[in-house]
Amino acid sequence: MRVAALPLAAVIAASGVLSGCWLQSSDRDRAAGAPTTSSATPGVGTPTDLDRPPVAGAAGVGDRYFPRYGNGGYNVAHYRLRLSYNPATDRLQGTATIDARAGRPLRSFNLDLVGLTVQSISVDGSPARWRRGSHELTVTPAQALPIGAKFRTVVRYSGRPEAGFRATNDGALVAGQPESAAYWFPVNDHPTDKATYTFVVTVPDGLVAVANGVLDSHRDNTWTWLAREPMASYLATVAIGDFDLRSYQTVDGLLMWDAVDRSIGSRADSALDRQGEIIDFLADRFGDYPFEAGGAIVDDHRLGFALETQTRPVYPAGFFGGQPGEEMIIVHEVAHQWFGDYVSVARWRDIVLNEGFATYAEWLWMEEAGYATAQQAFDFFYRGMPSSHPFWSVRLSDPGVDDLFDVAVYWRGAMWLHQLRRLVGDEDFFAIVRQWVSSKAHDHGSLTEFTKLAEQVSGRDVDPLFRRWLEERDKPTGSGSTAGPPSALGERVLEGRSRGLIDV
Ligand SMILES: [Zn+2]
Repeated sequence: MRVAALPLAAVIAASGVLSGCWLQSSDRDRAAGAPTTSSATPGVGTPTDLDRPPVAGAAGVGDRYFPRYGNGGYNVAHYRLRLSYNPATDRLQGTATIDARAGRPLRSFNLDLVGLTVQSISVDGSPARWRRGSHELTVTPAQALPIGAKFRTVVRYSGRPEAGFRATNDGALVAGQPESAAYWFPVNDHPTDKATYTFVVTVPDGLVAVANGVLDSHRDNTWTWLAREPMASYLATVAIGDFDLRSYQTVDGLLMWDAVDRSIGSRADSALDRQGEIIDFLADRFGDYPFEAGGAIVDDHRLGFALETQTRPVYPAGFFGGQPGEEMIIVHEVAHQWFGDYVSVARWRDIVLNEGFATYAEWLWMEEAGYATAQQAFDFFYRGMPSSHPFWSVRLSDPGVDDLFDVAVYWRGAMWLHQLRRLVGDEDFFAIVRQWVSSKAHDHGSLTEFTKLAEQVSGRDVDPLFRRWLEERDKPTGSGSTAGPPSALGERVLEGRSRGLIDV
């Protein structure tokens, strides 16, 4: 559909929030409903802690948007999740073995866990006591943990997951943001505590289980996947179903696993076949692909969004069907492997660092694929959104919980980056991007830090531009361009992308 026939603003106004790492309303409501009381205790101890009596670990990491996400007092190194799931009963049985290190002397510590029933907990082999809250699982070991102690917690649990771990026609699919992990395993559920994972998943006869990372073994009905690189908890995924599991290598030798629901047939193949090309394209701009494996999970589920689950993004089948440019959703999720996964947000308010970059990667790809230039993509949204539209009133540097995944975070986020590129030029722009990625590898970063780096690398004062695009709540003026309109194909792709985000 042409813009003239259906103005972008009307599309957006009629449909509200979009999808595509884009949250469903139920998730957003859940996130917005998170309680707002918590103490924020730093997670790292100091030498003087040696003399202090052990304390209770904090119930949150101090993220203002989600005060109870994550926990203080320790850091997790590794999760080993032994799971079995029966689609007939939607019942999950799990044993989580969590290796962590105390950052301060602890008499108790919290994990995040929602719903599900805890059967037993041990710490370093001794039974531990526990207490449940709506989101918090407080564990009291038989003996207090000294600062620096490496300790192993084993939690046995079961039940029907309330969210995040979603039943499908033939199995289950895990996807949710900003928080989904606590709905299927006990976890320190915040991107600032990354860990490696082992998934050991037992499924009924004939079904396949796929997760992040590399396939370690498949024996009888048990599938073992290893995510050997640090991963934020919301990026952990497991998918169970009647999948066609395809393993191969890209031209550059990257190990790939694509799990495609057999009911989809070959519908997604033309887009999936471009993954290697897309990875190489983005690696040329952002730096080496950050993980040891890649791939996709395409499931027959009306998920409403795709998600950048680490090494193996999740896509609902509805994103694919032979439309021109539908590989753009793959560009978006693969770009997140750098922006969101390898470099995660320090706090959820920094979300524009994820979605702005992933959307801008789409515009870079549009140039590469010959659909339109990044400037034409910018113009499409700039001209398409009247200054009276609420799109311009979202404060991107601090959007708030309700607007965390508003379209503005995506499109205006990309527009901000395009203006930065225009200000500093291509050489400095891509130098900033690559230095940002390499300096925050397997870690997290904030918008404030990104601003500093942009100024360091470019030697320019970027504050006025950042204020105009990220802080102010009016349509920036003076951003017109002399670029002509894109080709009919380019416009169709842009229009399809802006609608696809919403409709699927
Ligand atoms: Zn995204």
